[in-house]
Amino acid sequence: MILLKKATEVTELVTTGRLHGKSIGFVPTMGALHEGHLSLIARAKAETNLVICSIFVNPAQFNDASDLKWYPRPIENDIAMLTNAGCDALFIPEVEDIYPDGLDQLTVFELGHLETFLEGASRPGHFQGVANVVNRLLSITTPDFMYLGQKDFQQVKVLERLLTITGSPTRIVICPILREKSGLAMSSRNIRLTPEQLSFASVIYASLQFAQTNYRQFTPEQLKTICIDKMESAGAARVDYLEFCDTDSFFPVEDWPDAEHIVAVTAVLVGKVRLLDNMMLK
Ligand code: AMP
Repeated sequence: MILLKKATEVTELVTTGRLHGKSIGFVPTMGALHEGHLSLIARAKAETNLVICSIFVNPAQFNDASDLKWYPRPIENDIAMLTNAGCDALFIPEVEDIYPDGLDQLTVFELGHLETFLEGASRPGHFQGVANVVNRLLSITTPDFMYLGQKDFQQVKVLERLLTITGSPTRIVICPILREKSGLAMSSRNIRLTPEQLSFASVIYASLQFAQTNYRQFTPEQLKTICIDKMESAGAARVDYLEFCDTDSFFPVEDWPDAEHIVAVTAVLVGKVRLLDNMMLK
């Protein structure tokens, strides 16, 4: 696997690849890789000829300084995992390479309600930070396909909007959520959970499964109350939000027939660790 530290090195690799008729697959990450990330690499490898992964812990998307400070950065292990996975190139930029004009010169994208709803409401500025870093990474890597996890459902909606706004030719491929045996969605933040918290956190998956199986018997409001109670009853978790949204518009539904496809999205605090998950209901 080729290690790239400068944007110019990436441009060179991509230009040469294109000259040889290669299609480019791009997997943006913040590192601390797990099987979920590797599933994106595997999908990119299956569908494109040159797979570039990036690892960049993006300061612009952290609204909590301690979350940024404590974000895991096991770079040697990440490099070994990507090498084993057959990734072609890893881009590890410095902050100055991504934000040459400084972190206070972000572009403001028109993200509509996505910016202030659910994850956006809990993390002001977060999605502008995400849109900025991905916009910059796309301008460097110019991929045919960008592979994203459904795990961060609202982020996918934001990045779909970004590509529309910028008129980018890159297409998004959404990959399924990889889970631990317990059902807990794999996440770089899981290693911050104690063993007790880790086993308790499977209640998130159990609640989403309950919602998926039983939603027709309840109104969205009733189901929300039941699921939040399930997750909070043992006192080890606090639900930041649970919402049932139209997968297209990402507005909450008032009733099940309101949308063709509905996703249950949730953010749950287990101790100090904020965990995201979602599941399609219909
Ligand atoms: P992150 O490093 O957390 O920014 O994630 C990088 C990419 O991996 C994003 O597109 C995530 O949605 C995706 N991802 C994270 N966790 C999982 C998972 N459990 N299954 C599938 N994809 C995931």
